[in-house]
Amino acid sequence: MFPNGVRVYHRPFLIAIALGMRYTHRMIRTGIGYDSHRLVEGRKLILGGVEIAHEKGLLGHSDADVLAHALCDALLGAVADGDIGQHFPDKDPQWKGADSLRLLAAVVARLHAAGWQIVNTDATVIAEAPKLAPHIPAMRQRLAEIMQIPMDCVSVKGKTNEGMDATGRREGISVMAIATVQKAASGVAP
Ligand code: MG
Repeated sequence: MFPNGVRVYHRPFLIAIALGMRYTHRMIRTGIGYDSHRLVEGRKLILGGVEIAHEKGLLGHSDADVLAHALCDALLGAVADGDIGQHFPDKDPQWKGADSLRLLAAVVARLHAAGWQIVNTDATVIAEAPKLAPHIPAMRQRLAEIMQIPMDCVSVKGKTNEGMDATGRREGISVMAIATVQKAASGVAP
């Protein structure tokens, strides 16, 4: 839009208007997600659907897969469809101890039902320990299967917090995630 309010259209759209044609365009949306869980003894450590040998695991109502949870929120955020807590309340017994990839699959199904396709996702896992690099290919593969997109559209990166704050003291693991989705939309040119 110019400051004076004149709308700027791309040429194919102007041609569609001139011919009174139906037109299609691609809607692109992005969303962010964040999650963190406390590390405690006596729990399995599961990240991106992959069980990782470690002396502690993440505490939570489900399996506490912090990576899957952040991706759920990124995907829901991209389509402005609430958040993981709204769709899968932690008071609900059906999600107690649940495999969080089931939650992610349910989010993907919601997006597909609304006509959205996932383009790509990216995530940064912030964990002082254990070393994540050896497990990242397996995480990407599991997540790609669940999100029904190629593995090269699913990025997972590991970081430490350089010993700073609670994450740096190995008290928990946190994840930042972003997702891009697309949908073909059509209309009749005015
Ligand atoms: Mg969570």
